[in-house]
Amino acid sequence: MKNLSIVVPCFNEQETVPLFYAATQKVLQKMPVKAEYWLVDDGSKDNTLQEIKKLHQENPAVHYISFSRNFGKESAIYAGLKAATGDYIVLMDVDLQDPPEFLPKMYRLLQTGKYDAVGCRRVDRTGESKFKSFLSDQFYKVINKISKTEIVPGARDYRMMTRQMVNAVLSMPEYSRFSKGIFSWVGFKTKYLEYHNVERVAGKTDWTTKKLFKYALSGIADFSQAPLDLSVWIGIISFILSIAGLIFVIVRKIITPSSSIFGWASLVSIILLIGGIQLLCLGIIGHYVGRIYLQVKNRPIYIVKEKK
Ligand code: UDP
Ligand code: MG
Repeated sequence: MKNLSIVVPCFNEQETVPLFYAATQKVLQKMPVKAEYWLVDDGSKDNTLQEIKKLHQENPAVHYISFSRNFGKESAIYAGLKAATGDYIVLMDVDLQDPPEFLPKMYRLLQTGKYDAVGCRRVDRTGESKFKSFLSDQFYKVINKISKTEIVPGARDYRMMTRQMVNAVLSMPEYSRFSKGIFSWVGFKTKYLEYHNVERVAGKTDWTTKKLFKYALSGIADFSQAPLDLSVWIGIISFILSIAGLIFVIVRKIITPSSSIFGWASLVSIILLIGGIQLLCLGIIGHYVGRIYLQVKNRPIYIVKEKK
């Protein structure tokens, strides 16, 4: 019999915690495993922690970690993975968008020894706004083009991993964590189960389009240096164009020596254009420097207030 750890990040989820526990317990009863839960309260402002504590009193296999403030889902995932002791570890959202019904199948697939992880990817996004789906499709297209790390479109964080793979994930102590990239970067064999999108049972998501956009940009910076190359290319192209312009001006002067200087308006436009390009490139570099700054400060990824 294997030990299974269930790691669940929770942020303002007082309604969904009991529903999640009930649904998951129902599935676990039919599985040949000894399960432990690690519910990570990511600085919730509602009664999430109280709800979790109730479960802890009812079942000592329900453990919890409570952060001193909201550190974000990625930090909660890291803390949960670190605390988990199982042979297999599964990551789940608490809003039942990751259906517990998949657990037995994931477990069976891992047991065959053919895979190191079994993940889930949703093949549609019903219930989500068209605009959001469009943006996320574009994100997967762009990042897979410019990053060597493959990011599987629609893959959720819902995945069951072997101890060996989790140890590999934990060995990456980066401050800015993009799990979708990290899980792929560490390698190992992953099998993806496909399913149709499920909407959350209660509560509401706190991912606005703006937040998702920022998350996408930071994911790109975490797993690709293509934006830096882009600024080099813009520089090379504007250098070539300026040489061509120079040749044009000299040749014109030789052919028609009497031609006077004209076109200061176009000159101003060109100066503004070059200035803009320089600021853009500086911004791209600044973005990466900022990430280096955050990493070298070596701040902890999360701070625990309570753990049991
Ligand atoms: N979550 C978290 N910290 C945060 C935001 C979210 O731990 O700052 C948790 C949340 O409680 C849930 C999971 O991450 O279990 C996914 O969040 P959500 O359902 O809001 O995102 P979506 O499913 O829309 O991607
Ligand atoms: Mg959700």
